[in-house]
Parts: sequence; C-alpha cells; structure tokens
Amino acid sequence: MDTVILGAGAAGLFCAGSILRADGMEGHRVLVLDHAAAPGEKIRISGGGRCNFTNLASVPDRFLSRNPRFSASALAGFRPQEFVALVDNAGIAWHEKMLGQLFCDGSARQIIDMLLHRMRGAELRLSTAVEAVTQHGDGFVITTSAGPVRAGRVVVATGGRSIPKMGATGIGYDIARSCGLDLVEPRAGLVPLTFAQQDLDKCRPLAGLSVTAAVSHGTGRHRAQFRDGLLFTHRGLSGPAILQISNFWRPGDEILVDLAPDIDIAAGLREARGQGGRVGISTALARWLPARLADAVALECGLQGARLADQGNEMLQRVGARVNRWGLRPVGSEGWRTAEVTLGGVDTRGLDSRSLVARTVPGLYFIGEVVDVTGWLGGYNFQWAWASAHAAGGDIAAA
Ligand code: FAD
Repeated sequence: MDTVILGAGAAGLFCAGSILRADGMEGHRVLVLDHAAAPGEKIRISGGGRCNFTNLASVPDRFLSRNPRFSASALAGFRPQEFVALVDNAGIAWHEKMLGQLFCDGSARQIIDMLLHRMRGAELRLSTAVEAVTQHGDGFVITTSAGPVRAGRVVVATGGRSIPKMGATGIGYDIARSCGLDLVEPRAGLVPLTFAQQDLDKCRPLAGLSVTAAVSHGTGRHRAQFRDGLLFTHRGLSGPAILQISNFWRPGDEILVDLAPDIDIAAGLREARGQGGRVGISTALARWLPARLADAVALECGLQGARLADQGNEMLQRVGARVNRWGLRPVGSEGWRTAEVTLGGVDTRGLDSRSLVARTVPGLYFIGEVVDVTGWLGGYNFQWAWASAHAAGGDIAAA
C-alpha cells in the first residue's frame, strides 16, 4: 500500500479523501483500517445525532495544547467555509445554532456518507485491529489482527481514549512512544465533573432543572469563563457550561458558578426591599431564577419563609453571593466513560505543524484527536480533525 490510514473516524476518513481527490492522485493506493464494524461511529452519535460538524470561529485560541500556536497553520490551511462547501455540494441541509456552531438539519449519517463518497477509490477494511507499527526499510509494517500490512506512509488517526465503549484505545499513543515521540499526559475533556456529598445534596433536589449560567475557572490571564447551559443532575452539575470548564479544571481547583449572569442579585434584592419588601425571599428571587432554584437558595441561606423586608444588607449580600458567585470544588470527573474528547496526546514538538508528519520519522503522520490539540465544545474538534487531515493529506499528495 502507498498509504495506510489507521482509524476510520473523522480525521482518517477525511484524510483518505484529501489524498485521493488531490490532482493526479487517483492511482494512489490508500487503505483505511479500523477495528470497529462501521466507520465514523463518533460522527454518528455527535451533536445529539445531528453532528455539529464545524464552528465558524475556529481560531487557535479556541483550542488547548501545550503549544497554543501549533494548530494555526493547519486551521488556516483548511477553513470551516471549505468544509461547508463540501457539505453544500453533497446537498446536506444545515443550520447555525448559537455561536457559529453548524449542525445538519437531518442526520449525522449524511456527513459519514459524504466522507465515504469523497474517499472513493480507497479500501476500507473494518473489524481489523491495529496492534503496532514498526519502521521497515523505507516504509512501515503495521501489525494487525488480520496479519501484517506494508505501507510507504502511515497516518495515525486512531483518536483519543474517550468512550472506550465506542472503540477508543490508546494505540495511537503506543505507536507514538514506540517511534520515539513524547506524549502530553492524556486526560478526559468535555466531561461532567463530580462533586462532594455536600454539593450533591444541593444539586440533587434540583435535578432536571436547567439555567443559563456563567462558569469560570482560574484568575487573571489564566481565567476561563463560559456562559452556556447548566444542568442540575442526580450526579451534580452537567450541561455545556460545565463540559467547557472541565477542559480547564485540574484536581483541587475551584470553579465559580454565576446562576444569574445578567443580574446583581444582592443589588436587586436591596432595590426590591426599598420598594416595600413584604414578599418572601423566595418570591423575590423568583423574579430572576426558576422558582425551584429560588426556593433552594432561600432554604440554604436559612431564609425559608423569611420576608425580604426583615433582612439586612449583609444577609442580602450572602444570598447574592450564593447566586452570583457559587464556589464549588469538584472532586473529579466522570472520566473516559463519558468524556467527549481527550486532552493531551502526541506532543506537538515532535510534529511539523504544516504537515503533521513526525519530525524524526519521515512518512509517519498523526492527525485528529490523537494529537495534543483539543477544541472547546461546539464543532471545534471536528474542524481540527478536518484541518489536520487536510494538512497531512496535502503533504502526502505533494510528495
Ligand atoms: P475518532 O473519531 O475517535 O476515530 C478514531 C478511530 O480509530 C475510531 O473509528 C476507532 O474505532 C479507531 N481505532 C481506535 N483504536 C484502534 C485500533 N487499535 N485498531 C483499529 N482502529 C482503532 N466534536 C465536534 O466537533 N462536534 C460534535 O458535535 C461532537 N460531538 C461529540 C459527541 C460525543 C458523544 C463524543 C464522544 C464526541 C463528540 N465530538 C464532537 C468529538 C469528536 O467526535 C472527536 O473529536 C472526533 O471524532 C475525533 O476524530 P478522530 O478521527 O481523531 O478520532
């Protein structure tokens, strides 16, 4: 084989198409290997089945990596609009949700079909596990569950560790290490956080309730803040705002939750008190918060049934802080089982940023999630898969 691509996920499928659709590459022999029974399994379940296939604001600062500039070259070489053009050409209807996030109107399956059509001419071999890659002469030998495969070039697109039930393995990291590349310790990202009993006791009675919140982590230059949906669950807190902040959270850190980001609750309560204040605290809070949350905050502050008029400024400050600056110290995350992505991965210092080829192993490429480049929630991770695949595919076609 001229090129063997390991992994028939977003990056692997797109890379096969990028090689074969380049000028003069029709005769190039491309094999895509995957141990799953079907290609693009994560695409199929992504975006709630509608695949948030890109984000129009895919700039490097929406990605986490030990080298924050590494993704710039590949992202500039293949922009979201170029993927949108492919989607349009395939006749797939789409819509923009919030913040530049593009979703299929119909089903994520349409994206998989488009990618498979684009890589026509490649061989797709499923139910074949990759076990190792070794350098052999000018090329490589790939050890698989169905015997060895020789290749002139190898593209590692085996993804990260998240959701082992969907086929994730650490094989890409093993291959990188065996070829002398370093790793940035992989860890679960875009994942629900877990909480200590005292915090769970506050969340559980509110399970099912969702609000728009601003969740932040860190201070100064290192501060990250996301304003998005927050969901109370039996296991604590979830929803997009929590998934986003999970990428920044480290064990032992505190996160701050603002449950009413547009309102200074203490000031609002003082004003309401000045206008009479005969109402109860819960009723006053329910102007800005869902009634269940308003009741829970009042209860927690020991003000169940208490009248607003009877509260001093200090108490109103306390209530306000509980809503606008709710500090929580997660005890962990749900881990690989539910993480949407893997942070860390193949250290970018070992890779060329324009082609994604390993600097010390000509012909060996790493693309997609296996690399230490991880996007925020919102279509960024697929855009990285497309862009890095396009960079590697273009380099292979140009050789
Ligand atoms: P993957 O898509 O994970 O593909 C890796 C492939 O390698 C898999 O097919 C796997 O079977 C194969 N493989 C692994 N080990 C072996 C082995 N030993 N032998 C052979 N094959 C192997 N991102 C977005 O941008 N938008 C979204 O809407 C979105 N929704 C998501 C929803 C969920 C539930 C999850 C889990 C993730 C979501 N993501 C989303 C993230 C996105 O799916 C990934 O970032 C993206 O799929 C990474 O592409 P990849 O090709 O690098 O890896």
